[in-house]
Parts: sequence; C-alpha cells; structure tokens
Amino acid sequence: MEFITSSRGAPKLCFDSFTYTKKKSSKTTITWECSQRRTLECKGAVITDSPATEIRSSREHNHEKDDSHVGGLKVRKEIQLSVQANRGWPGQIIADKMFSQPVEVRVAAGTTETIKRGIRRKRAGDAPNNPEKLDAIPSPLPESYTHQLVYDNDSGSDRVLVSVRSQTGGLIFRRTQPRFEPATWNVNTATLNDEARTNNVCEAWNNGFRCLVGHVNPSLWTVISCFEKDAAMVEAEILRVQRGQPSKKPARKGTVRYQKTLKTLCQQLSNGQKTVEEFLQAIGGHIRLR
Ligand SMILES: [Zn+2]
Repeated sequence: MEFITSSRGAPKLCFDSFTYTKKKSSKTTITWECSQRRTLECKGAVITDSPATEIRSSREHNHEKDDSHVGGLKVRKEIQLSVQANRGWPGQIIADKMFSQPVEVRVAAGTTETIKRGIRRKRAGDAPNNPEKLDAIPSPLPESYTHQLVYDNDSGSDRVLVSVRSQTGGLIFRRTQPRFEPATWNVNTATLNDEARTNNVCEAWNNGFRCLVGHVNPSLWTVISCFEKDAAMVEAEILRVQRGQPSKKPARKGTVRYQKTLKTLCQQLSNGQKTVEEFLQAIGGHIRLR
C-alpha cells in the first residue's frame, strides 16, 4: 500500500493509479473515497482493513485511471519536503523539482501559484499571525524581529518602526517641491485608468527568472539550465491554457488596496480637491521601505 501525505497532513491512499482520501474508519476497516469525487463527481471507493494493508472491496470510478494525477501529487509532496532543507525562492524550488517530470505531470501538479502558496504556508509554520492593527504589534518587539530595526518610538498610537535592508542600509528623507508636475509622472495616467502598475510587461518574468537563477553573476551553464527549467514551466502553462484552465496570478490584497489608494489620491489631485503639497504629503505616507 502506498500513501502520500497531502499538503494539509492527511494521508492519501494510492492504489492502481487512483488516489483516495479517508472517509470513515471502524475497528476493522477503513472506507476510502476517490479524491477526485468533487471535481469529477466520482463515486469510486475502496475498503481496506485497519490499519490499511490490503484492499477488501472496491467500487468503480466514472473516469479513467490517471498516472499523471498521482505523479503530480508526488511532485507536490517532494516540493513540500524539500522546503525545510532548502531556503531558496519558491519559484526556484518548484522549477527544480518539476523540470525532470513529464509535461502531463507538471500540469497535474497544479499551477505554480497554488504550489507557492503551499510553500509559504509551510514556511510560515508557527510564526505568529500578522498584526491587524498598529497597537497589536508587541512592545517591545521580540528579539528575533529586531535585527534590522534601526528606530522604534515605542508609542502606542503613533508607532513608527524603521528597518533597513542590511545590504544597502541608507535611508534618505527630504521634503522639496517636485521638479515635474505629478500629471507628467509616467504612472499618473496608468493609475487613473487602472492600467498595469508597470509599463514593462516583462517585469514579472524578469523577477521570476531572477529568483529562479538565484544569484547575480551566474555562469553561462547555470543560465542555460535555468532557461530550460523556465521553458518547462511555460510548456506546462501552455498546455493548461489549451485545456481552458489558464492559471491566473492573483493580485495581493495589499497591492490592490494600495493601488486603490493611489488612484483616489491621483483623482483628488486632478480634480483640485488636493494641492500638490497635500498630495505629496499623502503619497509620502504610503511609501514602503523594503
Ligand atoms: Zn474516481
């Protein structure tokens, strides 16, 4: 009997290229139902002894057996397992594991975004939840979070925390009038018209590829193997699109909210509700240092 642990920790029974999840167990038997019962409305099931060592009886599936589905689950499991040992970028880990798999398995393993979410969930582990409100941030900050902290005014209602990235370190603040009118800024119109945040459509790819390579001056051979890995991921995505299941990258909630704020501010500036100074003051409150 072969089992794969699902990303949420429950065992999945693999038998004859079908996968099953536990439905109920009695003292002597366990009933397992087809893990694709929801997506395919399949009534397939098996009954094993308890603990599961052999199949006692089975009910037929309404679909063909699918090796790539099982393969996909296994790859996902492998990725999950390697997350703890490997501190690399999620995109890098995924591409590494997927590269050697046939395209069908790559598609069945799920979209990169879904797998990344699993990796993040795994890594977040026991870390405390993100505070929802300013006064929920513990004071003083726990030791493990202060290594890049340069300033903390420790105020209950007006908490200001400043941290730096260790590599660059520098922080510069200044207050002057903008040299060019905000209306001429290159993202002003884009923000007002809900267009993309960047005018470089390749930026997402660039970013992903940079993370995949993982360092700044890779050798030619590293780059070539990364191109191959990237091509493998794209190939799976093309197949997904052909099957009418394109993966959609969800925008982060924070980004959506941020973009909405910027749009409101740009509108207020352009219809005269805000002066340039008020506008810049407001924009300044949304600068993220990271
Ligand atoms: Zn089934």
